[in-house]
Amino acid sequence: MATIRLGITMAKMKAVVKTKPEPGAELVEIDIPTPKPDEVLVKVLATSICGTDLHIYEWNKWAQNRIRNIPQVMGHELCGEVIELGTNVKAVQKGDVISAETHIACNHCYLCHTGNAHICINGRIFGVDVNGVFAEYAVLPSSNAWILDKKIPRDFASVMEPLGNAVHTVLAGEINGNTTLVTGCGPIGVMSIAVARICGATRIIATDINEYRLQMAKKAGADLVLNPKKDDIVQRVLQETSGLGIDVVLEMSGVSTAIQQGFDCLRPGGRFSILGIPDKPMEIDIGKSIVFKYATVQGINGRLMFSTWHKTSRFLSSGRLNLDSIITHRFRLEEFEKGMELMKSGNCGKVLLYPHPKD
Ligand SMILES: [Zn+2]
Ligand SMILES: [Zn+2]
Repeated sequence: MATIRLGITMAKMKAVVKTKPEPGAELVEIDIPTPKPDEVLVKVLATSICGTDLHIYEWNKWAQNRIRNIPQVMGHELCGEVIELGTNVKAVQKGDVISAETHIACNHCYLCHTGNAHICINGRIFGVDVNGVFAEYAVLPSSNAWILDKKIPRDFASVMEPLGNAVHTVLAGEINGNTTLVTGCGPIGVMSIAVARICGATRIIATDINEYRLQMAKKAGADLVLNPKKDDIVQRVLQETSGLGIDVVLEMSGVSTAIQQGFDCLRPGGRFSILGIPDKPMEIDIGKSIVFKYATVQGINGRLMFSTWHKTSRFLSSGRLNLDSIITHRFRLEEFEKGMELMKSGNCGKVLLYPHPKD
């Protein structure tokens, strides 16, 4: 077991590291990092695997173009306990249990100055640009630490970052009283169903080609689930909305056919919010799908810093939002490969890893 003395990190820790520019990752022993003046050192209590981590693990095209630092500790989503403070840190205390915003903003560019730190032009991300959190310990800027309300369970806290993506997407326009189509029922898609439901969406339709994920969508509160392999999505959605089309589309799949179906389902004047990322460019009839439809199309990136975090915390601490059906698998950190395989299969919701399983 690692020990830390006198503010000087003395020991080693286990970490899942991308050691080579090729598929895979390794569990290795590395030094426990020392927090810089504005950073905190946290003991990672729970961390969850994101689609981004799988891309880096599988070393797909995006990862090959995006990842510059190897070796690098993987992972970005966490719940941790602050155990050491950098010399300038004031707003965070030792013993605070935190989640973390994973976009590290520069705080001085145009976007940071105008309330858009989530799309900071100099932004960096844990586990992508700097060492991440698939480890027993991790350092992060204290301004990224989100001190948790004690009512929020640790497991829920570890998925607050992707949950924030869902909250940001759902609340990017009117939702109460609106019919809503969620295309793609991966973890963030299913979270957005749960959020849309408590925010007053009136009829929630969800699509995916994976039956496991459609079942998850149902448990999270979808009124109707459709599988494009079996169902005519556009026809069914038009049927369900008296021929009008759906008020809101939340695009979570990044799949071009699903995106097109979403536009074909959208009612004139509707909102189309996109979080899913297609892996290649796609063609779209802008006149038919957007202009004549008078559609509002939004790209969603990250979480508003930090209004989305306040809302996400309130949803969780009030008990209104329950993620039990969305967190489906739990492993020790050492078993990260099992988690990656599950993610690859699609037969899972959020997969959590525990670096200190006894605590
Ligand atoms: Zn993530
Ligand atoms: Zn900035």
